[in-house]
Amino acid sequence: MHPDAQPVTHALTVDVEDYFQVSALAPQIPRDSWETRECRIERNIDRILDLFERRGAKATFFTLGWIAERYPHVVRRIVAAGHELASHGYGHERVTDLSPKAFREDVTRARGQLEDLAGVAIRGYRAPSFSIGAGNLWALEVLAETGHEYSSSIYPVRHDHYGMPDAPREPHRPLPGGILELPPATLRVAGRNLPAAGGGYFRLLPYALSRRALRRIERVDAIPAVFYFHPWEIDPLQPRIAGITAKSRFRHYVNLHRMEARLERLLQDFRWQRMDQVFAKALAPQAGDAGRPEDRAGVSVA
Ligand SMILES: [Zn+2]
Repeated sequence: MHPDAQPVTHALTVDVEDYFQVSALAPQIPRDSWETRECRIERNIDRILDLFERRGAKATFFTLGWIAERYPHVVRRIVAAGHELASHGYGHERVTDLSPKAFREDVTRARGQLEDLAGVAIRGYRAPSFSIGAGNLWALEVLAETGHEYSSSIYPVRHDHYGMPDAPREPHRPLPGGILELPPATLRVAGRNLPAAGGGYFRLLPYALSRRALRRIERVDAIPAVFYFHPWEIDPLQPRIAGITAKSRFRHYVNLHRMEARLERLLQDFRWQRMDQVFAKALAPQAGDAGRPEDRAGVSVA
């Protein structure tokens, strides 16, 4: 880092869903069984809020409408602690599985519920399993039309379940004049983007690699990293799901018992804030007006 440079403040995010709502386990967990499962979201969110408080970190919580309507006090606790509440949709369906009409209903319902319960404006949305990409950019139009101001849904990597490897790594507007996309962090290595935003990789690989990746993003890219994790990832005692593939079992359960201590170090080693604060400048209406860029062309600022 240049000696005069300010340290970068990164964006900390939590996807608020429970262990039985994870997309990779969906084939083994019928949606209509969700109601009968032991929900562990309350205690896990409380632990996360304590951890953030201890370390002076603020974060954005992308929350499912399904969780919010059953645990409204959890949502209110998040907001009362000074964090940003944002939407993860209602029922954790991948956008790739939804028609434009069904997607509109899902995000409208979730945003309305969250706003009613918490009494704050919901500006952000994250697609389940980062399921917005080259094949369904129409979803960004729907998000803008339903009142969202930013999305954090396009992961510019190659992965078996998601990703748009050629998408920009920094904040951008995929559709001209459209909604702002704030992508999860990646590392540019030998012409390829590697995931550096948390999730399974953060649990699987040694912490030192994640730390090095974030330091490199600070030094080379000088942009804030968007990092994410889930409440179930700090919960080694969660009920085990039977009948899942070896790959899913590994991805879901590896190093759960190490996660909380690892997060503690991450919060200590870097500066963290909510999405709407970290990206306040990019989110602000541009000088002069809120119209489309072509409307502003030719307007001179004296
Ligand atoms: Zn999710």
